[in-house]
Amino acid sequence: MSRFWSPVVGTLSPYVPGEQPKLQNLIKLNTNEHPYGPSPKVLDAIRAACDDTLKLYPDPSSDRLRQAIASTVGVEQAQVFVGNGSDEVLAHAFLALLKHDRPLRFPDITYSFYPVYCGLYGIEYETVPLTSDFRIDVEDYLPGRNGQAGAIIFPNPNAPTGTALTLAEVERIVAGNPDSVVVVDEAYVDFGGESAIGLIARYDNLLVVQTLSKSRSLAGLRVGFAVGSAELIDGLERVKNSFNSYPIDRLAAAGAVAALEDTEYFEKTRQAVIDTRSRMTAGLESLGFEVLPSAANFVFARHPSKEASGLAAALRERSIIVRHFRHARIDQFLRITVGTDEQVDLLLKGLAEVLQA
Ligand code: PMP
Repeated sequence: MSRFWSPVVGTLSPYVPGEQPKLQNLIKLNTNEHPYGPSPKVLDAIRAACDDTLKLYPDPSSDRLRQAIASTVGVEQAQVFVGNGSDEVLAHAFLALLKHDRPLRFPDITYSFYPVYCGLYGIEYETVPLTSDFRIDVEDYLPGRNGQAGAIIFPNPNAPTGTALTLAEVERIVAGNPDSVVVVDEAYVDFGGESAIGLIARYDNLLVVQTLSKSRSLAGLRVGFAVGSAELIDGLERVKNSFNSYPIDRLAAAGAVAALEDTEYFEKTRQAVIDTRSRMTAGLESLGFEVLPSAANFVFARHPSKEASGLAAALRERSIIVRHFRHARIDQFLRITVGTDEQVDLLLKGLAEVLQA
């Protein structure tokens, strides 16, 4: 605590990001990046945008990018909001849409940024435990069981568990809370989840947030977006413009548009991740791990007799990094990003050695 800080700063528990190691030769399976690089067309588009126009500020309303997103997901441009990564989009959503008289509701095991935003913006929240098999129970998000929530947010697929609700289940939550905003954070949806974007035409309380960091392999570019009714999008714009948040920069916008347009590369690489995930799951199971059913580009797995923290440390000695969370209920789990086939082979070999030792 510093005497120079505003009082709120001392109360914050900031997010601890996954490690981004400086070493080059690590097998990096800890922060759910895509194992394959972005489409070559993205790199061409960024190179082509490297010209004298960089002296100019970017388009404050990111029209070309918003139009590309709108046509990709099948909505109007006025229903699209963009930000520097979905983390920024979520930050604005927390302030613009999720602060109400009644507490915001989200699962107890979920994206650990949510309570951080609540602390930053003074948003009261309540968490609902996942079921014993680590799933979200729809009933917990309906007024009948737990009363009316001020607003609701959850990732689908959930993180770090990877389990997904069906579209019908998401619709029950959205339809069951007509007076509360429901934010569905679909960072991982392209790896096997069902997007709720199609529901937006019928529900004005639904905001769907997606990112180009995962399935489009552009974590380094920082582009995320939200889709919802023009009313919700307008709320986000008002907050964004009050911060004077930077619009998407010229290079990122050019790369993002090219990524959205190269559907062939997108389909091919996401399918490769899904296929490797099946192999990785089978391999882990044959080593004795219990693996939760994953619709994401990572799996959440625990071994019945080995400490997860010890396994993570032993893998690290073999230059393989995975994620372990020090949260009591999931302390036995490792979250492992789906890598290339070669990386997954090395992971399984490393784990087999550690388990035999
Ligand atoms: N939502 C969830 C559930 C995530 O796991 C992440 C990635 N850590 C994000 C949002 C944010 O991703 P980005 O800011 O790269 O779009």
